[in-house]
This record gives sequence, C-alpha cells and structure tokens, in this order.
Amino acid sequence: MRLFRLFVGISLCLTICTLPATNGLSAAPKTVSPAKNAPVDPVLQQRLQLFQRLEFVYGIPWSYLAAIDQYERTMKKRQKQEKPDSRLTAIDIPSSVWCGSLNPEDDDTDHSSICFFGGIGCDGDGDDRADRHNDMDVLTTMIRYLSQFGFNRDDWKIGLWSYYKRDRAVKTIDQFAAVYEKYQTLDLDAHHFPIPKRYNYSYNNTWGDARGWGGRRIHEGTDIFAGYGTPVLSTGYGVIEVVGWNRYGGWRIGMRDMGNVYHYFAHLSSFRKGLKPGDIVEPGEVLGYVGSSGYGKPGTSGKFPPHLHYGMYRDMGHNEWAFDPYPYLKRWERQMYSKKKRG
Ligand SMILES: [Zn+2]
Repeated sequence: MRLFRLFVGISLCLTICTLPATNGLSAAPKTVSPAKNAPVDPVLQQRLQLFQRLEFVYGIPWSYLAAIDQYERTMKKRQKQEKPDSRLTAIDIPSSVWCGSLNPEDDDTDHSSICFFGGIGCDGDGDDRADRHNDMDVLTTMIRYLSQFGFNRDDWKIGLWSYYKRDRAVKTIDQFAAVYEKYQTLDLDAHHFPIPKRYNYSYNNTWGDARGWGGRRIHEGTDIFAGYGTPVLSTGYGVIEVVGWNRYGGWRIGMRDMGNVYHYFAHLSSFRKGLKPGDIVEPGEVLGYVGSSGYGKPGTSGKFPPHLHYGMYRDMGHNEWAFDPYPYLKRWERQMYSKKKRG
C-alpha cells in the first residue's frame, strides 16, 4: 500500500514537473499592447518582462502572475523588513510545501528528493536545481501548480483556493488581475485626495477620538467636512467591493486598492450613477457625493453636519485592521496642489 502511494506520488510529481517544457525562455515575449503610462521604475519594468516571458511560455496571462505576486507582496509588508534579497518577485512558497512536509532538508533543491517527499518545487530556469529563492523556479512552480486545475480563470481560482485556503486571497488576486489587465502596467500606485481641488473642505486628525454616536466605538478614520453634494473621488486604482447602506456609515462605498488596502467612504448623499461592486476605478474618479447619511435605518440622514468619513484598512491575513488615514490624506492633498503631480 505504501509502495503504491509512493508510486502514485512520484508519477503525479512527474506529471506536474514535466507538463509544458521549460525551454524557450529566451524566445521573444509576446508584445502586450503598449501601457498607457509606461512604468518608469526599472524594477517594475523588469518584473513585467518576467511575467510576460512566462505568459509566452505557459499561456497564463501575465496579469494573473502579477496579481499573485502583488498579493503576496502586500501581505508581506507588515512583517517588517526581512533581509534584503535580490529577488524580483515576492511569491514565497513555504519550505514545507516546496520541499515536502516530511523532507528533513529545509532548502532542498534536489528534484528527485523533493518529488519523493511530495513537494511541489520545480526547476524553471534550467539549472537543474529547484530553488525556492529563485524567481523563475518559484513562478514556474506556481504556474504548474495552478495548471493542474485547468487552463482558465475559474480553474485557477480553484487552484488558488487550494493553495492559499483563503477566500479573501482568491478574491483579491482575481481583482488585481482584472486591474492589471485593464491598465496594462504594474505602475498603479498613484493616489488622489478624495475631494476635488476647487471645493471647500476641512479636516483634522481625529484618529482614535471617542465618537458621540454608535456607543463606545473609537473613531477609525478622518472626517472631511464639505458641503452636500461635493464629489467624492477614488483615492487609488482598485476595485469597488461594496456599494450600499450600513447602519453607521449610511450610504457608503468600499474600494480595495492595488496595495491591498480597503478604502471606506461613508455618509454619502448618493453614489455615482451605475457604480457597482466589481467596477474598476482609478485615482480621481468620482464615486459619489458628500452627505450626512447614517446612524439609523436606510435613508436616515441629517443627524450631523455633512462630511465624508474616510477610513483605511489593511488586510492582516485574518482580519482587516484600521490605520490612521490622516498622514496619507495630507500627502495626497499636497500632491494635488503641487505642480509636479503625477497622473
Ligand atoms: Zn467619521
């Protein structure tokens, strides 16, 4: 029985690791339609080229590889600076998964023993070593892992779920991929102040203040006071996740940006016509209008002066954690008024 399992294990492993040939990496990448604003950052440029090369070899869209990479990058940020490394991508396949959980060697690069212990690590750059610190090996392994599940987006979603065991990961990666596909660039870090230049507004740092309404909750955000109907703009590139009523927030919108930060816009008087979950938005795009809705059943309004309650939440792996948006608002406001603003 054990022998049989071993046999099945090895043949499965061989199937995965021999799927499409790895050669041809030197071939010219398929040209992707020119980016709207070509990335100036050479690292982004190199990373994009790497994904495009892999798309050319394996057929999995570069936007999808970029999305997986970006998801892992954003989840890693909070684990304060690891030792700097020379890698171009952030995907980190745990040693137990790469080498096999019972493999006594943590950094095994030997193909046959990795296979023996049921690891998924593959060689992607043709040096005969399956190195989990090598971009090409890691990406090739990820592609082969996902290819087991099929060759379209829905199949990969199942594959991603099987890999991350987390709905949020699958959803975020799928959203990232859609945004990369739309803009055809990795340079999507631009942000915008949520109120347009020519409108009157005021705000202070109210982070952590006790709030008058809704019990003993702490104020998780910044209130930007502005007149009824003042446009509320998207603060970044991202995907709309929520449009609707919430008891405290009133008419509110939730948007996840390309840094995996959830932006929350509350107390609106109305939404931009047609705006719905799944929509891709960009910095400065109108999402809705300032109001004073909230603190009651749907439609309740006028219990406080009109303002935009703006919050930012970081995906912590298990939950979303609010952090102080004030310094970001200050920065975006400065950028809005400075002449050399980008985008
Ligand atoms: Zn508020």
